[in-house]
Amino acid sequence: MSGHRRVPRRALTDPSTAAGSPVTGRPSARAVAAVALLAGLAACGPLRAAGQPATGGQATASAQNSGTRTTSPQTAGRTCLTGTLAYDHRDAEAGESRPLATAVARNANWQLWGKATVSEQAQLLASGVTGQNDGTFSACADRPGPFAEAYLKFRSSSTSLWRVVSPVHKTEYSFESPHLAGISASRDLGTVKVPADQQGAWKIVDTLNDFYRKAVEANTAGSGCWTRHQSTGGCDQLTFSWAPDATDGGYWDPGSRDVVLAAEDADSKHTILHEAGHWFHFELYDHSFPDAPNCENHQFDVASSTGCAWTEAFADAVAAYSLGDYRYVFSDGKSFDLHNDRSTTWDRGDAVQGRIGGSLLDLWAKDGPDGGSWNRDIQLMSEHQSADFHTYFTVDRPKAGLATTDAAKRIISSHTIDY
Ligand SMILES: [Zn+2]
Repeated sequence: MSGHRRVPRRALTDPSTAAGSPVTGRPSARAVAAVALLAGLAACGPLRAAGQPATGGQATASAQNSGTRTTSPQTAGRTCLTGTLAYDHRDAEAGESRPLATAVARNANWQLWGKATVSEQAQLLASGVTGQNDGTFSACADRPGPFAEAYLKFRSSSTSLWRVVSPVHKTEYSFESPHLAGISASRDLGTVKVPADQQGAWKIVDTLNDFYRKAVEANTAGSGCWTRHQSTGGCDQLTFSWAPDATDGGYWDPGSRDVVLAAEDADSKHTILHEAGHWFHFELYDHSFPDAPNCENHQFDVASSTGCAWTEAFADAVAAYSLGDYRYVFSDGKSFDLHNDRSTTWDRGDAVQGRIGGSLLDLWAKDGPDGGSWNRDIQLMSEHQSADFHTYFTVDRPKAGLATTDAAKRIISSHTIDY
C-alpha cells in the first residue's frame, strides 16, 4: 500500500504567510485530567515496574519506604535520579530554514536500573514517564540504597499508547544515561539529551502528545484510549516506523497498521500528525477505512475522489487542529495555507481535499457550530462510518444531532460545497 495515502510532496508556489513558531498552547483543565489518565495507564502497561503508578514524571513510589518519610514523601530517604529529557530537531514548522531547535520530550518512558554490588546484574528499580508539560523525570529506586551503580534507560514510547520502532528490527529505540557509580544519595542529571541519530524518534513521541490530548478529550467513554472502542488497559497502540536513514515513508500502511516515516518526515509535526490521523480514522471506524480511490497523488487544491478527499482532509485537519493552526507544513519547511473561499482558484466541491479540510476546521472552531471543538464530530465518527464528506454532512450529522443548516451550511458553502 506504499504511497496510497502519501502526503503530496510537490513544490509549492504559494507557501503560507502564516509560517512561524509551532503552537504549543496551554492544555485545558480537561486535557490535563486526560493526561493524568495517561500517566495512570503507565501502571497498566507490560513494562510496569514494582510500585505505584507514576504521575506526571514523578517516580514510582514504594510502599516499603513509607515508614521512613520525613519531609518529602516523594524522595525522603530514597535514591532518585532527576533531570529533564530533551532532544534537538529540525523545526520545519518554523519555516524553510528549518532552524535547529531544542525541545523537552513529554510523556516519554524511562526506566531506572541499578545494582547494590558491582558483581551482580543491574535490575529494574522503577519506571515511569517524563513530565507531561516539562519533560522532567524524578526516578526513585523502589528499594533502599546505596547502589554500586545506577542509570536511566529512555525508550521511544509513551506508556503503551504510542511508540516509535526501527523499520528493520521493529523494536523501540533506547539509550542510557551515564552509568553512575557509588550512588548513596539522589543525583540531579540536569538535561539529558537524546543521541543525535535517535532524535527523530523522540520528536515523534513528543509531538503525538498534542494529538493524544485532543483525542482523549473527545473520548466520551472516559477511558485513556485513543477512541471509545477500547477500554483502559486494552488500548490499541499507535506505532510509528522511523529511522535516521530511512528513505521509504510518508504514509500510513493499512496492512501493518503502522505509520511509516522516512528520516526527514519527522522534521514536520504536521507530517507526523497527518499520518497519525489516518490511523485515527481507522480506529474511529473500529478497524475500518473508507474507500479512497484515485489517491496516489492527491493535492490540496485538486479534485481526486470524494473518498480520497474525505480521508486526506480529515488527516490534514487532525494535524492542524492538534497544533492549533490552519495549514500543512512539509518536512522541507514549505507550507500550504488551508484557508479558502469561493473566490479561491482551486478546484471546487467535495472531491477536493483542501475544501473539506477547511470545512472541518471551521466546523470544529471555537466559534463554530459544533460546540467549539471537534469532540462531537469525533463522537459521530466513532458511531457512524461516513464513506465521504457528503454522507458525513447530509446523513450522519443529523443522526448525531449536529446542524446542517445556518452556520454549518454557510461554512461548507464558503468552501464551494453546496448540498
Ligand atoms: Zn494522507
